[in-house]
Amino acid sequence: MPELPEVETIVSDLRPHLVGRTIVRCELRFPTIVRHPEPEAFVDSVVGLHIASVERRGKYIVIRADGDVLLVVHLGMSGQLRIVDPETRLAPHTHAVFDIDSPEGGLPPWGGAPGRAGSRHTPLGRQLRYTDPRRFGRLLLGTDAALLASGAMPRLGPEPIDPDFGADDLYRRFRKRKARLKAILLDQSTIAGVGNIYADESLHRARLRPDRLAGSLSRKSVGRLHESLRESLQVAIANRGSSVDTYRDAWGSMGTQQEKLLVYGRAGEPCFTCGRPLSLIRIAGRSTVFCRHCQR
Ligand SMILES: [Zn+2]
Repeated sequence: MPELPEVETIVSDLRPHLVGRTIVRCELRFPTIVRHPEPEAFVDSVVGLHIASVERRGKYIVIRADGDVLLVVHLGMSGQLRIVDPETRLAPHTHAVFDIDSPEGGLPPWGGAPGRAGSRHTPLGRQLRYTDPRRFGRLLLGTDAALLASGAMPRLGPEPIDPDFGADDLYRRFRKRKARLKAILLDQSTIAGVGNIYADESLHRARLRPDRLAGSLSRKSVGRLHESLRESLQVAIANRGSSVDTYRDAWGSMGTQQEKLLVYGRAGEPCFTCGRPLSLIRIAGRSTVFCRHCQR
């Protein structure tokens, strides 16, 4: 499932090509991918939207239009949002297609993934396409208030990579909590954007066991986790995310962080620090990999 670094990569890919543009047509090929409002109302309202900004909030892609209307995309397990040339053959499981107008006075600065082989992109691309084989993703449209009130978008905790998010804030959020560390990192209302990959990675970097109770951590340990969390996420953003399953960027290219993961997906393999085999347990229903020797 795409997490904060993967969504951040897609958002930064999309931003220069969508800001200032208008959505001129929308085709829903699988209408129930829209969760708010009704699909017909969604299409009526999304056409004509002038895009003011493209942002990320937690694991959500937030395309903000003039008039404070948001087009929100959650990629679920296997969603992909790509900019393509309209001539490109429709991929299987394409559920929504948005036509984007052409900028006046020429083409946008098409760049694609910097310095990546095989990522040459045609300057003709004017379509935003959403594909999702497993259909756990969703599209939403409305104001912040309407989306919160409808329950379509949950209240999210702070952004862990926000410069204003301090270790003291994390410590306050952990105090007296009886939940296990891994479970609390996955809770989007405590911190936004962290999923299975970066919870395991940051706990390993912080040398903390994932099954410890959050409320048992000293201020010093929380400080270490705060730093590790930000480092794990920032490094993954720099490497354009982890393509451990179906994740691709807005150009359809893979990230490279999957080659550099310390523990995620490495159960039974040797710990890079101590050489002992990594352990696998389940916490909050999720596979959790850690080193019994290095993490306490
Ligand atoms: Zn170890």
